[in-house]
Amino acid sequence: MSYCLNLPADYKSDLPCFGDYDVVVTGAGPAGIASAVTAAELDLKVLIIERLGFCGGAAVAGLSGTVCGLYKSVENPSQAKPEQLVFGFAGRFCDALYAAGGLTEPQIYGKTWVATHDCAKYKKVATDMLRQPNITVLYHTQVVDVIAAENAVTGLALHTKSGFTSVTAKRFIDASGDADLVFKLGQKTRKGQNGIIQNPTMMFKVGNVDMETYLNYWGENTISPPKVVSMLEAEDDLLRKKVWLFPTVNPGELLVNATKITGFDKRALDVTNPVDHTEAEQFSIYQAEAFFNFMKENVPGCENSYFIDYATEVGVRQTRSIDGVKTLTNNDVVSGTKFSDGMVKSAWPIELHYGDKPRTEWLVNDYYEVPFHTLVPKEGKNLIVAGRCLSSEHEALASCRVTAQCFEYGKAAALAAHISIKETLDFQAIDGNRIAQLMQKA
Ligand SMILES: Cc1cc2nc3c(=O)[nH]c(=O)nc-3n(C[C@H](O)[C@H](O)[C@H](O)COP(=O)(O)OP(=O)(O)OC[C@H]3O[C@@H](n4cnc5c(N)ncnc54)[C@H](O)[C@@H]3O)c2cc1C
Repeated sequence: MSYCLNLPADYKSDLPCFGDYDVVVTGAGPAGIASAVTAAELDLKVLIIERLGFCGGAAVAGLSGTVCGLYKSVENPSQAKPEQLVFGFAGRFCDALYAAGGLTEPQIYGKTWVATHDCAKYKKVATDMLRQPNITVLYHTQVVDVIAAENAVTGLALHTKSGFTSVTAKRFIDASGDADLVFKLGQKTRKGQNGIIQNPTMMFKVGNVDMETYLNYWGENTISPPKVVSMLEAEDDLLRKKVWLFPTVNPGELLVNATKITGFDKRALDVTNPVDHTEAEQFSIYQAEAFFNFMKENVPGCENSYFIDYATEVGVRQTRSIDGVKTLTNNDVVSGTKFSDGMVKSAWPIELHYGDKPRTEWLVNDYYEVPFHTLVPKEGKNLIVAGRCLSSEHEALASCRVTAQCFEYGKAAALAAHISIKETLDFQAIDGNRIAQLMQKA
């Protein structure tokens, strides 16, 4: 199958205009939500566009299910108390979610902690935040192209059920996860390690688990104990041998992060290709079913459990990363590099989903920072990214892509959009130290 990158120029110039905004945000995942809310609170007129009919991105549609990246890592979490490292928008969102009964207490995950969220509550909390006078939300709408002049984006072409339309704005935040706008602008992006990206996972939930029996067997660490890993190694049909299971806010319910999704022929997939993406969705059905059967047969407490549902779509960890003014390197992550323009801290491990066991590499009693200019493409004047498509090396991305940090990237992108509009500055010219200071204050 062949594809063309852009719509013909005369076609784009003839599109009707839906509206004109200060900031248009593409994608309503964690980064997009934080971008839109922060920009609106800075008195900017915001449009947020989402191809699905709800917000939350991979955290909701992909049922990714826990907020990672909030806490420090320590050698022995069962002997320690969780210490929060990231506050900002992530802290505010998690506080609201917790107050709504949609977030668990911290749960041990290896050498750190996570909190498991409930997707229904997540949608409600995010919807409450997005429903404010300065924000227009447009669901069921796909950004299909950028309209550009002199290396600046002037508008976006959108596809809706009613046909094509366009929007114009002063600044554009690409929170698509896939760097769709940067790619459409024809700028350099890269994918994983020489094109090989981390494997997707189909998440699912099961109910009616006898939680006491389950926890007695599994233990308090949400990562599979060695006895489970050994059993999985003997299962030919299950491609993933190390898994995570999270008790949720609902009684007797487990969130299951246990599948490795490849093609039916076991090849690594590129989910920006619709043929591969479709195969991922289909292969997911069988891997999830096979793991559920394994749980029922082998994990005490799960004998009478039932399959609640799959995620709405397969969870995608990685596609395109931009070529930014700065790039977060693998070494920055493992050596805990701090930056004067560090916009957010992270102690999340490198959690690399490739091969039969995800590899986790910990940064204990330390953290690294992500510099602001990883969000800024080398060219493009009024376009910035937020979220997992920031500029980072392959293994660094396996750490810096998680939800708490994505919320903060969204917030930083909005702060930068505000400065960029008020002071008529291209994003490349913004002083990252200023953003780092604002991130601490706001
Ligand atoms: C299987 C899996 C498990 C994970 N587990 C965890 C976990 O336990 N804890 C954790 O913290 N993180 C986890 N993550 C990571 C986390 O979910 C993501 O990194 C995070 O959601 C990325 O946020 P984002 O806003 O950058 O992008 P996304 O969440 O991917 O959101 C992008 C949004 O943009 C929309 N969009 C894309 N293109 C367009 C377009 N052209 N037009 C309109 N809309 C568009 C998408 O529909 C989507 O809603 C997991 C990820 C996966 C895949």
